[in-house]
Amino acid sequence: MKFGTLLIHNGYESDPATGALGVPVFQTSTFDQGDLSQVREFDYARSGNPTRKALEETIAALEGGVRGYAFGSGIAAIASALGIFAAGDHIVAAEDIYGGSYRILNTFYKRWGLEHTAVDAADPENIRRAVKPNTRAVFLETPSNPLLKITDLRASIAIAKEAGLITIVDNTFMTPYLQQPLKLGADMVVHSATKFLGGHSDVLSGLAVTATEELGKRIYAVQNGFGAVPGPWDVWLVLRGLKTLKARLDAQGKTAGIVCRKLREHPHVEAVYYPGLADHPGKQIHDGQAAGGGAVFSFKTKTTEQALRFLGKTQLAAAAVSLGGVETIASYPVRMSHAAIPRAERERLGITDTLIRISAGLEDPEDLLADFEEALR
Ligand SMILES: *Cc1c(COP(=O)(O)O)cnc(C)c1O
Repeated sequence: MKFGTLLIHNGYESDPATGALGVPVFQTSTFDQGDLSQVREFDYARSGNPTRKALEETIAALEGGVRGYAFGSGIAAIASALGIFAAGDHIVAAEDIYGGSYRILNTFYKRWGLEHTAVDAADPENIRRAVKPNTRAVFLETPSNPLLKITDLRASIAIAKEAGLITIVDNTFMTPYLQQPLKLGADMVVHSATKFLGGHSDVLSGLAVTATEELGKRIYAVQNGFGAVPGPWDVWLVLRGLKTLKARLDAQGKTAGIVCRKLREHPHVEAVYYPGLADHPGKQIHDGQAAGGGAVFSFKTKTTEQALRFLGKTQLAAAAVSLGGVETIASYPVRMSHAAIPRAERERLGITDTLIRISAGLEDPEDLLADFEEALR
């Protein structure tokens, strides 16, 4: 089956007990073990829940992986994925990974003895140079946030494999509809399902998918041990959101392209960053590993005042953290996602006071364009 069909026919499209077209929400903490003569599949909801299992199997199939695991948030999925490592291990991470991932590596995991080196992964040779005898993994995200920098997944994975490391890819921005890192040789994919997978800005959720059973068992030990699991209603919302993933991303990606092409001609706009633009750095690499530019882009105005005015004046874009919902969201990285990064470091990374990140929603592009023009004016 192709991707759009797989979204609808995920193996759970009809409940065997009742014929219901929706996956039942099993709102229970525990399961009757009968006369204890048999070990039953479910015993306690932290260890497993049938609603959660439906989402876990669905995301594993969509990513082309073997095992899927659901968590209470994206960062819970990432923290749990990193929980398979031990004190004294080292990982190489892209320097522009999600701010929350950067934070747990620099605080929580640092305290617990997991070392890391942050590198500019746009040049995969930087990954090779950072590998040490105790390195266990490479942690990547492409396109990156908020400048949509591209990392060559094939080249990076080849370097990791050569050094005997596993590769973990945060695939939140692209989703498995546009990019499937496991098929390019990655060992694990992590997601904030809060974004495009859930798709409606109404739920926090995270997912991890592994390429092997063995790695799956290691993640399961952390999922069950740490217990950062989602409740069944939240899982159900992600399952419902997933059904329209392709339709939403097709429309939102198209809108992102239309708005970007218009914005770059605007006299107040300094630069536009979007992997769907023909001259975006790394565009050729991106096109070789992903099936579209996605629905997130960013742009720089010429002055800080223009950026702040835009955020204040736009009527259709919510000035908010997050992305991937049906509504257009404009975020201001220096005050939001990247506020914790020291100013000098931010400037080095190109995250300036003039930078705005947009997640294109499902509004009609003509209306968005008119609103953006007005806000910039
Ligand atoms: C939002 C986000 C996360 C964290 O997910 P939460 O659901 O907010 O915990 C991780 N990675 C990326 C790329 C994100 O955009």
